[in-house]
Amino acid sequence: MRCFVKNCSDDATEAWQYGAGEVDLCPAHHEYVESGESWYLDAVERVVYVGSAVPGRVVAVSAAPAEGNPGGLMLRLTLAGANRAEDVKFLVPDEEAEVLMGVLRRGRDG
Ligand SMILES: [Zn+2]
Repeated sequence: MRCFVKNCSDDATEAWQYGAGEVDLCPAHHEYVESGESWYLDAVERVVYVGSAVPGRVVAVSAAPAEGNPGGLMLRLTLAGANRAEDVKFLVPDEEAEVLMGVLRRGRDG
């Protein structure tokens, strides 16, 4: 079986236990995640991202009413990750803001 890390073509020889399950990793990536480095499992793709491929982490969030059409909220996220930090802005119409709040609540509650 192939290692679950994205773009790694090495043979998986180690079954690695994480919180909710198990994936197969090559020896190098097994050692990498065991050492405490950042990793992220995309449960839909069944792929593990490591290092700079790990999605940026939200370290600050702010929102303010947006003037304009369609209005709503201007949501600003500050992301930090390996080798990067950036601000991203999203215009969130009122109806989508309600959806977003529900998604965040459900995601957090599992
Ligand atoms: Zn690997």
